[in-house]
Amino acid sequence: MDFFPIFLKLNDQTCLVVGGGDVGLRKARLLRAAGAHVTVVSPELSPAMAAYVAAEGLHHRAETYSPRCLDGMRLVYAATDSETVNQTVYRDCEARGILINAVDQPEICRFITPSIVDRSPVVIAASTGGAVPVLARHLRARLETLIPAGYGDLARVAGEFRAAVKDKLPDTTARRLFWEELLSGPFAERAMNGQADAARLLAQQALATADAATLMKGEVFLVGAGPGDPDLLTFRALRLMQMADVVLYDNLVSDAILDLTRRDADRIYVGKKRADHAVPQEDLNLLLVKLAQEGKKVLRLKGGDPFIFGRGGEEIETLAEHGIPFQVVPGITSAAGASCYAGIPLTHRDYAQGVTFVTGHRREGEQVLDWTRLTNPCETLVVYMGITQAPSIAAELMANGRCGDTPVAIIEKATTPQQKVHIGTLATLGELIANASVKPPALLIIGDVVKLHDKLKWRGDGS
Ligand code: SAH
Repeated sequence: MDFFPIFLKLNDQTCLVVGGGDVGLRKARLLRAAGAHVTVVSPELSPAMAAYVAAEGLHHRAETYSPRCLDGMRLVYAATDSETVNQTVYRDCEARGILINAVDQPEICRFITPSIVDRSPVVIAASTGGAVPVLARHLRARLETLIPAGYGDLARVAGEFRAAVKDKLPDTTARRLFWEELLSGPFAERAMNGQADAARLLAQQALATADAATLMKGEVFLVGAGPGDPDLLTFRALRLMQMADVVLYDNLVSDAILDLTRRDADRIYVGKKRADHAVPQEDLNLLLVKLAQEGKKVLRLKGGDPFIFGRGGEEIETLAEHGIPFQVVPGITSAAGASCYAGIPLTHRDYAQGVTFVTGHRREGEQVLDWTRLTNPCETLVVYMGITQAPSIAAELMANGRCGDTPVAIIEKATTPQQKVHIGTLATLGELIANASVKPPALLIIGDVVKLHDKLKWRGDGS
């Protein structure tokens, strides 16, 4: 962060605007909106500034700037059209530890003014660190349309209950959960739509029945995080990610997605590359139980869909055996993500009437796949965890009658900016893998639908 964001309480504080033009006027207005006493120093005032000074009863020093103008000032805007004067003001303020902003000269600013969305008492400030102020204004325009006008009312009505909630629920976690529940229900709707009394009634009822033990009962959210692109999360996934106290994730979950989990949630990495099982599955199942028994909201984030080759089923079996409440949220499985982002439909009227998902990874002693079922030229085959075994998978398919010319796509890091698509055939698959240095995670799409890739690829990176 180049600039540290804070909100300043300027009510009844004395602030200075150096400059009597329209730029200074905008700053004077902002300061007044925050309740500051504003002094304007400038030999002359623009007509608009003069009118504002008169209307608001601001103090006007009709003189050129000198260091004594800074006496007693908390914060200063240098808004003259002379860079040299602004620089002098900056130097003087720095020497005296007074906050200074020289308008449009970021190099001589101790603070910058963000773009503001005002739903007082809710205020949102956005800044680009002075780099592209227009972009911050752009963002503000979007936020303005996104945040209901009644947000301020909601904050005011909710604020009335702050002390009572604190009394009833001294534990901070219980309190956070209470507010989360209240704010996502009809209370919020009423408060935002001007029905303050109805909202108050709902809050009183909720508070009367609130009970820390019930609120703090642990729970596990088994959530599919999709194949990598954070845009592919579901709304429900995002909501639960924001509620979690602790997050258990493995290396299929991208940093971009992890960044969307609640900021102060604990994060536990539970591994899983082929050879690196950071936490064995059985221990992981029990860890989920233990954390939930401590009363935590536990988020188990899994790549793709939790029930497709993700062992999600085993994890919640253990939860069910221990009577721990859980929810399961589907995610976009990597086959679906890879198919769409590579422009390879998994089914197509001309090429494939069905699709089968298999895993190329076998546990010892596990039954081998029935290859004879997978050789129909009118069906697509998707192989998860199949890169290491790809040459032998191709050999088995061909031995059982699938044609060596059948096209194959290897899709690595599907849906991420690093996505790559390699195209070959069953007969050349071994060679392709040896030469392409495929990075995990990757999957195989086998079948005639792969022929569509050339025509249907739509991502700028050639994928
Ligand atoms: N539950 C996951 C699959 C877990 S098994 C899902 O529904 O997608 C792990 C395998 O998934 C990897 O070996 C790889 O074959 C595949 N995979 C996961 N993410 C992928 C991605 N972004 N791109 C390509 N393959 C991926």
